Amino acid sequence: EDTDITIVQSKVVSFIGYGNQGRAQALNLRDSGVNNIVIGNIDDDYAKQAREDGFSPVSIEEAARQGDILMLLIPDEDQQTVWNEKIRGNIKPNSTLVVASGYNVAFNLLTIPDDMDVVMVAPRMIGAGVRDRYVQHIPYPCFVSVEKDPSGTALATCLSIASAIGATRGNGAVGSSCREEAGIDLFAEQALWPEIMAIFREGFNVLREAGFSEEAILFDMYLSKEPAEIFERAADEGFVKQLKYHSRTSQYGQLSTMNRHDGKDIREKFHHILHDNILSGKFAEKWSNTKWAAEELAKEWKEVENAPIVQADERMDTENIFSKDNIERISLGLGISIFLLIIFLLYGKIHVVFFVLLLVLSYKFTDYYTLKLNNPEKYFTCWPNLAVFFDTTKIVKEEILRKRHANCVYVKRNPWVYLMISQRLDDALDKFCGLCLRDHIYPWLSTITHDDSLVLEAKLIFRFLLGTVIRRLHN
Ligand code: NDP
Repeated sequence: EDTDITIVQSKVVSFIGYGNQGRAQALNLRDSGVNNIVIGNIDDDYAKQAREDGFSPVSIEEAARQGDILMLLIPDEDQQTVWNEKIRGNIKPNSTLVVASGYNVAFNLLTIPDDMDVVMVAPRMIGAGVRDRYVQHIPYPCFVSVEKDPSGTALATCLSIASAIGATRGNGAVGSSCREEAGIDLFAEQALWPEIMAIFREGFNVLREAGFSEEAILFDMYLSKEPAEIFERAADEGFVKQLKYHSRTSQYGQLSTMNRHDGKDIREKFHHILHDNILSGKFAEKWSNTKWAAEELAKEWKEVENAPIVQADERMDTENIFSKDNIERISLGLGISIFLLIIFLLYGKIHVVFFVLLLVLSYKFTDYYTLKLNNPEKYFTCWPNLAVFFDTTKIVKEEILRKRHANCVYVKRNPWVYLMISQRLDDALDKFCGLCLRDHIYPWLSTITHDDSLVLEAKLIFRFLLGTVIRRLHN
């Protein structure tokens, strides 16, 4: 309710850049009743897109000349050069600069006229998300700040823009600053995520050295998309609280190791990165040298190419339509077709129809059980296995991995995996086993020993029994 959308509606808003954020924000502003939008871009594919969207792009210099509000939406590393060469000399008096990331303002890389307001409206969302959520009336988070306010009205302008791009629908925006936004962002990029990536890399190396298969490791680490699921729960319920969705063994493993981890080395390393490299401006200074930046980035890409985990990923990618699995499918398809032809020639049409119906039903039933294991929403609309000859949307790679993973780790020992019952039923069985043990075995066992391994073993045997019974029924 602090926002007044009429402020931005009464101004000329110039976009410098029509990429991810530029396009999304310009379309949102237009749909919010901002009629004077100028798009500044050289005449290329981005400008073509702007024309297709109903705008009339002009040069960056011209856009800077016309705008009361300048939305600087080109990549951070290019902003300083473009600002110096095309924008600075053409800025309208008493205008407002809007940045979507704090980087260039925080590290004083732009020379800003005295009479210019500077605000940040930084969606915590990719451009496509900014547009989609606006259209679907779904809120998304956004950081806002006022960095320079000679007019005295910068906050009102800032909130007006945030509201017009749909960034205040979640009951407001988050007050921050360019320094905070850029600092946290760079810290995540240079400290947090590299550490996480290195942990995954080393995890992969250690497991592979121990003789585990690449597919199984990658599947367990991220191909299953389980980490994405965990992070989603962490966002909804809390970083640690989401652990309640993990097994007790997993909870114990994670908590006991994390609680004993003193974090000293990592803290020191992070401290150094944050203060000496980021907040000191050292990184920004280096990164502003675009030629050096491009060369260094290319070097890093080259270096990572040889990491075993990257090569394993590559090998996964080469699984394609010509894989052994598909050749088997094609042979099967040909076999079935020849068989149908023979039936047709010997017995006529009705038998063929009957046979095909039987075949389809049997495949459909099998798949009813297997679908849940992997992105059910993708599969419920098609007839997997049989339809694979016609259905180009089937994700062959994932299916191969799933199969291999099952073969190499569980199948031989765990009948319920081979059975591939639906995830819900599997969870229910697991819970059932857990409850039986909790209520009928654990109470007396815990008076004798606190060693959980017997209970876990019993649970495994119980599940084995149930799995075997269901498999027999299924067969
Ligand atoms: P894009 O890479 O999508 O920007 C492309 C646009 O920038 C095009 O219009 C392109 O035009 C123009 N551009 C690129 N290089 C130059 C150059 N050297 N000179 C002039 N124009 C150039 O950027 P984003 O939309 O991803 O990012 C824009 C801003 O939004 C950044 O500050 C970013 O940090 C911020 N941001 C981005 C988010 C995201 O998810 N992408 C999220 C939140 C904030 P052309 O090539 O034709 O010149």
